[in-house]
Amino acid sequence: MKVITRAGWNARDPKNRLTVPWSTRTEFFVHHTDGPPTQTLRSIQDFHMGTSRGWSDIGYNFLVDDDGVIYEGRGWLVVGAHCPNHNRTGIGVAYIGENDPTDAAKRSIRRLYDEACRKAGRPLKKLGHGDRYPTECPGSKLQAWVNAGMPAELVDAPAKNPTEDIVNALPVLSVGADCYDVKTVRALLFARGGLNEKVYGGAVGLRSWQESTKYDAALCEDVKAFQRRSKLADDGVVGPLTYAALLRVS
Ligand SMILES: [Zn+2]
Repeated sequence: MKVITRAGWNARDPKNRLTVPWSTRTEFFVHHTDGPPTQTLRSIQDFHMGTSRGWSDIGYNFLVDDDGVIYEGRGWLVVGAHCPNHNRTGIGVAYIGENDPTDAAKRSIRRLYDEACRKAGRPLKKLGHGDRYPTECPGSKLQAWVNAGMPAELVDAPAKNPTEDIVNALPVLSVGADCYDVKTVRALLFARGGLNEKVYGGAVGLRSWQESTKYDAALCEDVKAFQRRSKLADDGVVGPLTYAALLRVS
């Protein structure tokens, strides 16, 4: 769970700061800022610390945006300013927006909830602001989501092998090709060994062989031999599987 720290969003220092122990925390409140999703953290903090609110800091313990980015507000154990009579017992997390939270935003709120329960050592009560105070906050959609138990698909997509993209982006080469990539294939074939130097007339011949950008019949035979050694279909076509074997990333 990645959290943008206060320094990361250029937070002002709080006017004061009161903390409670985890044993005091029993509730987890979901809010919305009720502003456009483009609101900046600093504008929310300025509003909360300004004359209309006059709080010591941004009111919430954490905030999340539509991209699922989590921002540190007051942090886990600082008493917030988000729900009267529940600021000591409750952790307040706000969705930056009005009433159209993305799945990513909900996932991040759920991650914060799970993390809070883990830190507290017990499950916290899931609440919308409106459950404990007469307000429309956190909006009908988030409130329904809280009422449903804050369901979220938290399994991350399996990490992609970055070399897969590289290999798939390389040009497929076969007899007749004439381009710089052929030289790369020659260099890789040479690095992997198994070439018959006699055929290329020793070191000098080998060098001119390596310099050629032409995918000729002789190269095709070398590629086929390499494919057989690599237990690949020996079709003489340099595609993703052959590249992966040449690069040893398969
Ligand atoms: Zn609220």
